[in-house]
Amino acid sequence: MNSMNWMEKWAQLRGEWWIIDGQAQFADADTGELGHDAYVIQSIIAEHSDEIMEALGLNSQEDVFDYQLFDPTIVDKEKLHLLGFSDEEITGLKYPREYGMEKLGWKRVAGPNIETQTLSSADLKDIANGLYDAYDEEATNAEFNLEVRGTKSLYQAVPFAVIETEDPMRVREYGLKYASTRNWYKQAQEAQEWDLNCPECGGKLRLRSGDWGPYYSCENRCGVTHGAFKSGKPRGVPGDLETIALRKAAHEKFDQLWKMNSHIPNARTKAYEWLARKMNCPISECHMAKFNKEQLRRVIGISNWALEQYKKREEEKKTQLELDL
Ligand SMILES: [Zn+2]
Repeated sequence: MNSMNWMEKWAQLRGEWWIIDGQAQFADADTGELGHDAYVIQSIIAEHSDEIMEALGLNSQEDVFDYQLFDPTIVDKEKLHLLGFSDEEITGLKYPREYGMEKLGWKRVAGPNIETQTLSSADLKDIANGLYDAYDEEATNAEFNLEVRGTKSLYQAVPFAVIETEDPMRVREYGLKYASTRNWYKQAQEAQEWDLNCPECGGKLRLRSGDWGPYYSCENRCGVTHGAFKSGKPRGVPGDLETIALRKAAHEKFDQLWKMNSHIPNARTKAYEWLARKMNCPISECHMAKFNKEQLRRVIGISNWALEQYKKREEEKKTQLELDL
């Protein structure tokens, strides 16, 4: 195959997936609900949903568990133990991808790149089924890069037909040819710094790595920081210090709205849909990290107004009760 075809074919294979028992589960945070990490975290939480609901004062028989109610990554270890989380799971919350592959046996797919812990015949069967599930007929004409984490081996441009043989020996032929090439997968995973200027002081925003992934902060340490995706892509638009303060204030006000309605399933998503209508913007643009100062002031105003409406309604209910008496 010449390199043009190669690129063209790769271009068709998009999106990020987990392969779970031969089924492809879409896990692309940029376009979907949950990314690879979030998917694993949710599956770890699901094991303990009864205990968590009990701790939150919810009834597991009647109430619907809303995963957004509980962020285990900010809960301390002892509390997680009390909720039944094992040490292994707690480590998994911090390193979800590794946990997904090592402990759950899931395969990670990003476009034509596949990561798996081991390369047995059963793994290949799982991968072939998952790729077919994710890419349909297109998978059968494509070639894939396989990284085996357990042995730190890399197999490049493996045709689907070879994966489908479920024979690890056949796949191994594709490793030797490319033994000297750089680890493409690692390269893909390494966060790339974007060229961003600090809106406060004009300095460069530098990509740094935090406990929970990469983020930007100003080279002049003027106080500006900004969130980033694993790839290094900034989340939304960096703001100056006033914008950052407004974003924090807008979040605090707006979050109250969905948190007080957290008994409703998907309260947070619904609240964002409501806000997008009020702000007259598409839901994909409805993020505090994307709003400018004027929009953020509007979010604060709208949220305050809605909170007051709630309060009034609650008071009216009370008055009603008193009258009924
Ligand atoms: Zn700065």
